[in-house]
Amino acid sequence: MTITSSPINQNYDLQELDKLRTRVGGQVITPKDDGYDTARQAWNLTVNQRPALIVVAQNAADIVEAVRFAQEQGLEVAVKATGHGVIREANNSLLIVTSQMTDIHVNPDAQTAWVSAGVKWGRVLEEAQSVGLAPLLGSAPHVGAVGYTLGGGMGWLARKYGLAVDSVNQFELVTADGRLLRASTAENADLFWGLCGGGGSFGVVTGMEIRLYPVSTVYGGNLYYPVHKAKEVFAKYRRWVANAPDELTSSVLLKNYPPFPQVPEFLRGQSFVMIRACYCGPVEQGEEILNYWRAWLAPLKDDMKAMPFSQVATISNDPVDPVAGHGSGAWLNSLNDEIADILIRYIVPHSGPPLLGSAEIRHAGGVISKVDPAATAYGNRDADHILQVVGGAPTPEAHEAVRHHIVQLRRALTPHLHGGVFMNFLAGEETRERTQQGFSPEAYIRLQQLKAKFDPQNRFSHSYDIPPAAK
Ligand SMILES: Cc1cc2nc3c(=O)[nH]c(=O)nc-3n(C[C@H](O)[C@H](O)[C@H](O)COP(=O)(O)OP(=O)(O)OC[C@H]3O[C@@H](n4cnc5c(N)ncnc54)[C@H](O)[C@@H]3O)c2cc1C
Repeated sequence: MTITSSPINQNYDLQELDKLRTRVGGQVITPKDDGYDTARQAWNLTVNQRPALIVVAQNAADIVEAVRFAQEQGLEVAVKATGHGVIREANNSLLIVTSQMTDIHVNPDAQTAWVSAGVKWGRVLEEAQSVGLAPLLGSAPHVGAVGYTLGGGMGWLARKYGLAVDSVNQFELVTADGRLLRASTAENADLFWGLCGGGGSFGVVTGMEIRLYPVSTVYGGNLYYPVHKAKEVFAKYRRWVANAPDELTSSVLLKNYPPFPQVPEFLRGQSFVMIRACYCGPVEQGEEILNYWRAWLAPLKDDMKAMPFSQVATISNDPVDPVAGHGSGAWLNSLNDEIADILIRYIVPHSGPPLLGSAEIRHAGGVISKVDPAATAYGNRDADHILQVVGGAPTPEAHEAVRHHIVQLRRALTPHLHGGVFMNFLAGEETRERTQQGFSPEAYIRLQQLKAKFDPQNRFSHSYDIPPAAK
């Protein structure tokens, strides 16, 4: 057996690698091959991972071969669809890239879609909307549907139709021993339970069947208010959402727009307190509910309107092109004046450019909290308000400054934190450090037991930190 080791860690048998190349329909890329840098690149430009080997899979069979190779060669396995949510960089590991697995099949009669591992939400949205249906995507259509769903998945229909993970009929996945399995409430039900919120800890998902909903028009958008009104807006928002119908999913945010030429002039370099909303009931009712704000104070800018659900991405208007960013988040106990004061202090620029681009509090509850907490691994269903903060991190120094600022902010918010986290709103190593906060203590123990059953060697260690339970 010829094991070679080089500065870029070719820690596998080269003869076996040749065999893998013949067995895989997609690309097998070593650090010496053309295409290595493109294949290892993540959407988040702060990620600089150097896998020992990359398999760009064409189909489930390629993933089976790649995982078996990893098992034989003792490599850990990481997965990338888009690189929006890299948790632990795939250094020295086998990175499976799913971005070419783009099959999607919408069944209008059953109101379901089969979504392959590399599909981004935008494609599902387009195909589903063409038959009057909607998937439970999040704020950004360029995020991968599977990665988003494995972490819960909270989007603009969340209060009415729940989390993405609550609308999965079945997953297909390759487990650590290289088996291709189906998991649903009827088949491998324990594994299905764990996949519903437990991230990429139990295998490589090759596809999933999800439920779709009859939503074609919504009333949604943004209301922009002067940032000096922030405290009043937070207080009004608290009263507004207290009795909100499930059809209304909304957020309140502090937003600092960068001073870049591509930003519209009105927003460029400015800070606002904003209301974002998506109402999925009758449009007239949505307009009436949003008039609460207009009756109080005419917004500086008001783009709240009836729109086809296919345009839902215009509500958050997240960046499409790769960016270097860092973020964090936590569930809050409540919304109160003190939280508003702290956020204003840490987010709104007082002297010099702001460190963070935004702090957004999304309203959860609704159908999310009506699901039996034991039905899925996903935790913290009782919490109503999720805070997410994000900052640009174009250099290592900026990254460190943003990270440090978030630590300080979290410290200031401590008395108001619920104690839980939403896994999808954490980034990088913090996702692993706070994994236990994403689940109930009982669910976390069960996840560890599942890990012992399906991945006893912790081959999928680039996702949440769920060590296998001791036998
Ligand atoms: C701009 C932006 C907007 C977002 N908006 C929302 C939102 O509205 N709501 C929300 O809930 N989240 C949101 N997120 C978070 C997002 O859902 C997570 O970052 C998610 O993990 C991204 O999945 P991905 O496949 O695109 O990313 P990737 O970085 O490719 O994957 C992230 C992780 O998911 C796992 N994974 C991906 N594919 C597979 C697979 N086939 N099998 C096993 N594991 C897999 C792996 O652990 C991987 O490390 C947003 C993120 C960004 C950057």
